[in-house]
Amino acid sequence: MDISRCRQELKGLLAKQEKEVDAILGIRGLIKGGIYKTKTKCGKKGCKCAKGELHPIWVLYRSENGKTETRSIKEEDVYEYGRYTGDYQKYRQARAELVKPHRKQLMLVDLIEEGLRKEKRGIEQKLFVKGR
Ligand SMILES: [Zn+2]
Repeated sequence: MDISRCRQELKGLLAKQEKEVDAILGIRGLIKGGIYKTKTKCGKKGCKCAKGELHPIWVLYRSENGKTETRSIKEEDVYEYGRYTGDYQKYRQARAELVKPHRKQLMLVDLIEEGLRKEKRGIEQKLFVKGR
């Protein structure tokens, strides 16, 4: 790969990383968990749920130190909490993407260094390698 392609690719990787950093900085609140809908009994005597017609409820869960906590949430809060749990996924995704290109960046930086050092008209070649 020639130097200019390495430079272009390095810049491309940095631009992608900047996008991931922007995604991380744009997140203002998150919940490490999720939301699901289930059905439950309320426990009141004579309620329809006692005969098997269960009440639908929304459950928010979060994980902390390997433990999962749950609580029921109101229908009108599903969207808001769903955004927080979704933002947690986005956050982790952006974090993973941020780590990935480091190896490739270093490889490109090393290729550029090697290319600069071995360029026929490069300063090292001019000073140290005669007859080229
Ligand atoms: Zn009930």
